[in-house]
Amino acid sequence: MTSTTAGGRVGERPIGPYERRTAEVHPWDPRTVEVARRIAALINEQRPDLVVEHIGSTAVPGLPGKGIVDLSIQTQPSEIPGIVAMLYDLGFQAQPGPDPWPATRPMPVGAYEYDGTSFRIHLHVQPVGGDMPRDLAFRDALRNDPELKRQYTELKEGITAGGAVDGFRYTHSKTTWILGVYRKLGYSPPAILPPATIGILGGGQLGRMLALAARELGYRIAVLDPDEACPAAAIADELIVGTYDDLDAARRLAAMSDVVTYELEHVSAPLVSAIDDGRVPIRPGPYPLKITQDRIAERRFLETNGIAVAPWRAVGSVEELPEAATTLGFPLRMKATVGGYDGRRQVRIGSEADLAGVAVPGPMLLERELDFEAELSVVVGRGTDGVCRPYRPARNVHDAGILVESTVPAGIAEPLEAEAQELACNIATAMGLIGVLTVELFLMRDGSLVVNELAPRVHNSGHWTIEGAATSQFEQHVRAICGLTLGDASMRTPAAAMVNVLGTGESRGAALDGIPAALEVADAHLHLYDKGTVFERRKMGHVTALGGSVEDALARAREAHGHLSWAATPRPTKRG
Ligand code: ADP
Ligand code: MG
Repeated sequence: MTSTTAGGRVGERPIGPYERRTAEVHPWDPRTVEVARRIAALINEQRPDLVVEHIGSTAVPGLPGKGIVDLSIQTQPSEIPGIVAMLYDLGFQAQPGPDPWPATRPMPVGAYEYDGTSFRIHLHVQPVGGDMPRDLAFRDALRNDPELKRQYTELKEGITAGGAVDGFRYTHSKTTWILGVYRKLGYSPPAILPPATIGILGGGQLGRMLALAARELGYRIAVLDPDEACPAAAIADELIVGTYDDLDAARRLAAMSDVVTYELEHVSAPLVSAIDDGRVPIRPGPYPLKITQDRIAERRFLETNGIAVAPWRAVGSVEELPEAATTLGFPLRMKATVGGYDGRRQVRIGSEADLAGVAVPGPMLLERELDFEAELSVVVGRGTDGVCRPYRPARNVHDAGILVESTVPAGIAEPLEAEAQELACNIATAMGLIGVLTVELFLMRDGSLVVNELAPRVHNSGHWTIEGAATSQFEQHVRAICGLTLGDASMRTPAAAMVNVLGTGESRGAALDGIPAALEVADAHLHLYDKGTVFERRKMGHVTALGGSVEDALARAREAHGHLSWAATPRPTKRG
């Protein structure tokens, strides 16, 4: 690494290797202005036509920050590869880490030696139509408005105040504050208004209920699902039949959509990244998907943010199992890192004796089974403006990993409710999620909360919101991904209860008996997902009842549910 002036030396690269460091906040360093000037000069020697802007914290005199010199170039999309190649020639490198900016708006990085210090450089290459005008407006507002700068400084100083959890809160408040400033400056993403088309990856019951809510608002729906008879098929304007890793099918979906979302986290992350080319927004976004579809990535994300999870180990083979098990202590749960849901791809290992029969068919998350007091979940909506609206936590009962009942309120003390809701908001913000997020929690016997699992989507434990909340989770998700103001998440009645209608018996054509009797129960609402085939434990529908108390609502939901049973043979239907 040589230190050079803006002339550089032939054959030597003026930009040195970039080092990742932990984030620390420092006072503003006036030398960063000179560093920015020199790098702009280096680039202009190669490409006099490019305007290199100094953006970010170091571009605002007096503002504390991480000391990274952020520079930005705006260009035509077709020019980006050529500019990146030129930057690499200067010594810039591809952005390290698991979540780099996409190739459509890359951020090469490097380091520049000046005055005895190595300055880290982030060079944003932005397509015309991207965020650069907004970034400049934000910079100039901070430069020109002392009160704005004071507020931002105060927020930033919060980062040095404490440990990981404070850092987490800091990220939340900072992000939300910045989005608020963007909005005041006139840079909020435009709302996607009806009759725009919402593309949904996945056409199960969640996609179906999402599509129903979107239709009420006047949106059009395109669905990608492997099954032409999927529950959302009847609600969709367009159905593309394809697997969740069919790139071509996903591109067709994106081409006919104004925004793309997913109803489950098992769609392939490379597929979502492939359609994330800046043309159509993908919400909640590729990053929340990547974190939540891999249980180990999810655990790491949670731990990095200082959130309590069950003690765990990654296990890749049977050979690694005994030692990991002994370290963690029995009883244990072993879960496939990808693809599990409703308790599938999950085994309980009660004691050392059970180990002998356990297979490790792929990468696994092994974790301690926790002796919890209750299972809770918080569904939270987060809009493009960064505003979070959590629903009240639900108390959930599972049977062998599958949700059976949810009741709201959860019967916990008010401060604990608030803590759970704040946790959910912080997680949504830390992921940059736009849409609905569900946080599954264990309430421990000492009153502490442990996160079990995250879902970047509407959730079975939020189905009660269709009748029970001012805005359903499905409408909230639609509002969020379309850039609209979020709706009121408060409850319409003091209590709500939801009981799942699960399949029973052998796989056969689905016919539900007892519907008229179930509907006679006062204020009980039956939802069926129109799945043609029923089998043991398949999610076929649900019943919601509202009431003055949880006991009352639950009793009526159970009563309605009690009338229902799956017939031995299917009923003929006109549609077949
Ligand atoms: P899924 O993706 O199938 O929902 P989860 O990790 O949420 O997977 O597990 C399903 C259910 O299994 C949980 O809701 C809970 O009832 C039980 N469970 C999972 N992990 C643990 C654990 N570590 N301790 C106790 N119960 C657990
Ligand atoms: Mg779960």
